[in-house]
Amino acid sequence: MAMDNRARGKRTRKKVCSFCVDKVESINYKDVAKLRRFMSERSKIVPRRVTGTCARHQRQLTVAIKRARHIALMSYVSE
Ligand SMILES: [Zn+2]
Repeated sequence: MAMDNRARGKRTRKKVCSFCVDKVESINYKDVAKLRRFMSERSKIVPRRVTGTCARHQRQLTVAIKRARHIALMSYVSE
């Protein structure tokens, strides 16, 4: 059912890829502070329809987060 879905009280930010805005060529997996912004509190990657990240950067972001997790710069499960 797709009725009554006016974005009422929802956070409707402008959907602009923040990496494109910053002219990021490649996402650095060591930039944990930045990566965190694209993760939920349960350390899951936030889908791009929420963050507005473009497909190209979302792809890089996913790789960066996985890499960061792998080297344990970032805890897999937040404490
Ligand atoms: Zn982008």
